[in-house]
Amino acid sequence: MTGTRAVAIDGPSGAGKSTVGHALARRIDATFIDTGLMYRALTLAAVERGVDVEDGAALGALAGRCQVAVERPAPDQRDRLETVMLDGRDVTRDVRRPRIDRAVSAVSRHAEVRAAMLGVQREAARRGDAVMVGRDIGTVVLPDASLKVYLTADAQTRALRRAVEMGRPERYEEYLDEIRRRDDADSGREVAPLRQADDALVLDTARLNVDECVDAIVARLEEIGA
Ligand code: C5P
Repeated sequence: MTGTRAVAIDGPSGAGKSTVGHALARRIDATFIDTGLMYRALTLAAVERGVDVEDGAALGALAGRCQVAVERPAPDQRDRLETVMLDGRDVTRDVRRPRIDRAVSAVSRHAEVRAAMLGVQREAARRGDAVMVGRDIGTVVLPDASLKVYLTADAQTRALRRAVEMGRPERYEEYLDEIRRRDDADSGREVAPLRQADDALVLDTARLNVDECVDAIVARLEEIGA
């Protein structure tokens, strides 16, 4: 479908998709695309403009109106793997705020929103070799990906990782609740729920570190000649 090499990485929040995906993209010289950032930017736009997160039609229309771009950061921007722009404004930090964490699953469950994202994401993968991470990449967005990977870890490990990453170890319990809530919302929704593709390479990031995950993925790519 794409004519280029595409690795799809899916999994629940905090499983390490961005870290592993980014490291893999560097290793195999592909573009890294984090689709979660696209849903986060749309959620920020909705929150700022007072669009109801339950109104799928209004959110779908908003997705068509606002300009979301996920770009490679400038060399001096070491605090991020990617820069997120919303209508020309750098919103990289804003899209990670707790308010967005709380609203993003509600926004991303609507069919109108997912339809708007699908075209943009497929187009991005068509431009060249890509590592695309999200929830439905192997199952819906790129079903013909060269390789599908499912990264997972128990909720406690993911919450602890998030707390350490954010420098807020005292908020572990809050992160755990948030992660469980998003797991349920993302896996339980009707359209494009989070699920492991049948032919995915499954890696447990509670047991494997970043380099071991990347090594396993590269080994599988070599094995299948992709
Ligand atoms: O990966 P991240 O945690 O940044 O994703 C934020 C949210 O965006 C997820 O909880 C999910 O609701 C939504 N999402 C999605 N499909 C994707 C990527 C993210 O529904 N492909």
